[in-house]
Amino acid sequence: MIKLSNSSEFLAEVKKEKLLSPEKLATKGYGLLQFECGCGALHGVNDRNIEILGTSFPVKILFRCNKNITKVQIKGFFKQKCISLWTLENELITEEDLATSLKHI
Ligand SMILES: [Zn+2]
Repeated sequence: MIKLSNSSEFLAEVKKEKLLSPEKLATKGYGLLQFECGCGALHGVNDRNIEILGTSFPVKILFRCNKNITKVQIKGFFKQKCISLWTLENELITEEDLATSLKHI
């Protein structure tokens, strides 16, 4: 998992793929599937405490917990697994910069 160090690196990553609104991808079917978060913990893709900031195709989700934002790819058809692509600590980006980065959703 790549650790991004500032908001401009975050924006560059976000711009690489068209980001869609969270509603574009239904995660219910993934049940209790978990991903490795940049904070070091495993979180459930359907955990109510984990926010979904955006999605992109094929199955990639931008998650935010109380410590990190993590981009995750879900692979597999019959059995899924999560691959964490990159992460940024929440404290390294302002809410304003985050909103700007995500405004095209
Ligand atoms: Zn986390």
